Amino acid sequence: MNGRVALVTGASRGIGRAVAERLAAAGAEVVVHYHRDKTGAEETLARIGGRGFVVGAELGVPGDADEVRRQVHAALEGRALDVLVNNAAAQPAGPLATDTEEAFDRLMAVNVRAPYFLIQRLLPMLSDGGRIVSISSVATRMANPVQTSFAMTKGALETMTRTLALELGPRGITVNAVAPGATRTEANAAFFETPGLSELIAGHTALGRLGSGEDVADVVAFLASPAARWVTGQVVDASGGLYLGVA
Ligand code: NAP
Repeated sequence: MNGRVALVTGASRGIGRAVAERLAAAGAEVVVHYHRDKTGAEETLARIGGRGFVVGAELGVPGDADEVRRQVHAALEGRALDVLVNNAAAQPAGPLATDTEEAFDRLMAVNVRAPYFLIQRLLPMLSDGGRIVSISSVATRMANPVQTSFAMTKGALETMTRTLALELGPRGITVNAVAPGATRTEANAAFFETPGLSELIAGHTALGRLGSGEDVADVVAFLASPAARWVTGQVVDASGGLYLGVA
């Protein structure tokens, strides 16, 4: 990935940070996007030896994609972007019974509208042969009633992936998604400490443990690499085989 430039949204922590680190390790320069956590984004940048820069913008609000495009364009000074990783997302908003129209609209705005228009606005800067990778979730194939609206947003992302892959194929741009399962990060570590939870999930996972950001980042890095030139329109599960069936 030497000489390539990648934008990773939501790279101030968690899976986004792991992706930034993995792409940088492969030689890419990384645009580290954040919303609230500028310190976290700067820490990510420091961890990749300063090979890139940070851009800060809230996603899910009017003008978000234009704001990201403006900052990326200014920082790249006319150079092309080669890889876009749509990683930033809002968290599940609970079951149908307690969901609200406001929380639903927010999820759709951050998880669906923002990546869609980010792609639209960044396409003129994206090099032919470029890569778009969006982070989905196993929630699209695994019914979990506390995540219905969240799963709907990821389903939309997967549909977008297939259709844009066809549309952007003539430019050699590949469009894929990666679907993590239960992935332990700094932000959710306390949640997974809930007594018995990690053991329960590990017991339903073919490979017998929770995932890490690095587990997911390696898959993203492959899809972002030249080696994945013949893979497009796909959703790659990166869950260690969560809920594949009854053993
Ligand atoms: P995380 O730790 O909660 O980090 C989310 C990142 O997204 C942060 O950098 C945050 O920025 C940014 N972000 C959130 N809302 C934003 C907004 N409105 N505007 C701009 N940036 C925003 O997330 P994660 O657990 O690493 O998950 C990363 C991706 O993997 C998400 O798409 C998630 O749905 C997916 N996923 C995760 C898991 C899991 O178990 N962790 C499982 C399945 C799928 P700031 O911190 O700067 O505000």
